[in-house]
Parts: sequence; C-alpha cells; structure tokens
Amino acid sequence: MSVRIQEFPGTPLHDDDIRSGRVLSIPGSAGAEYSWDVGIAMERYLAELKNGRLVGLRCHHCGRVLLPPRAFCEQCFQPTSEWVTLSDTGVIQTFAICHIAWDARRIDQPKIPAVIAIDGASRNMGLLHLIGGVAPDRVAVGQRVRAAWRPAAERQGSITDILYFTPMEK
Ligand SMILES: [Zn+2]
Repeated sequence: MSVRIQEFPGTPLHDDDIRSGRVLSIPGSAGAEYSWDVGIAMERYLAELKNGRLVGLRCHHCGRVLLPPRAFCEQCFQPTSEWVTLSDTGVIQTFAICHIAWDARRIDQPKIPAVIAIDGASRNMGLLHLIGGVAPDRVAVGQRVRAAWRPAAERQGSITDILYFTPMEK
C-alpha cells in the first residue's frame, strides 16, 4: 500500500530540530499540575476497597457481574447500574512465581502474581493480584483464597488496600 504524503499535511521533524531545542524544549520546570478522574464505576470501586469491600456492576442485558466494575458492558454495549457486593474470596485461575522484580532485579522472596476468580463475579473476570502468606510450593491452580486487607486506617482507596490473597486452607 502506498500513501501519498500530500494526504497528511504537516511539518516533518528532523533530529537537528530536537537537538537544537527547536521543539520539545522545556527550560526549567514546566510546573504542570493535573488531576485524573477515574470515572463513575472505578470511583465507587476504589471507595469500596477503602471500606474493605469488593464490588462489581451487573449488566441487565446479559446478566454478567463485571469486576472491576465498568459503566458499560463491553459485550452488550449497554450501561450497567446495579451494584453487587462481592465476596473477598475466590479461586486461583493461574499464577506465576517471580524471582525478579519489575526492573529485572533479583529478589530474595519471590512474588506470586495470580489471576483470581472472585466469588460472585462472572466468568472471565479474573482479578490480577498477589498471593501471599504461603510458601510458593504450596500454591496451586484451583486453590481457594481470601483477601488479606490492610488495616482500615491504612487503606487509601487502591487495589493495594488488599495486601494479597492467601489460601483459605494451608
Ligand atoms: Zn452485558
């Protein structure tokens, strides 16, 4: 496929433009401030995490309970409006044992990221989180787990208000 350059008018940039500071040059501090709105569904989800609860939204068209909650069902293109309080328990669908951190640094205590099917949420709504409080060789797919919450006074309305999920039977 060929594209004629005339179809996309603009100003071509060259390396010299960047090096000479003709573009993208910000002397000193930009001092830019911003705020970010997470949206209606995520706002309540995060607030409920601070309260120590997991919540989802039900789609009235297909009946699925979406977790994390979304304002629209991506299958039906219908708005969701019925909040559902979910359990903080679930089943490990898959997991990995990681001996390196995100920056490729070796770590002494391995992390165990996992996808957890939360009880009450619909199929394929796996929540990505960590498994903890158990030796890595005792973790298994299909294992039932429960959220280990931060103390209430330390919660911030973040998914990290759950420290990790830990097996209900060890
Ligand atoms: Zn739906």
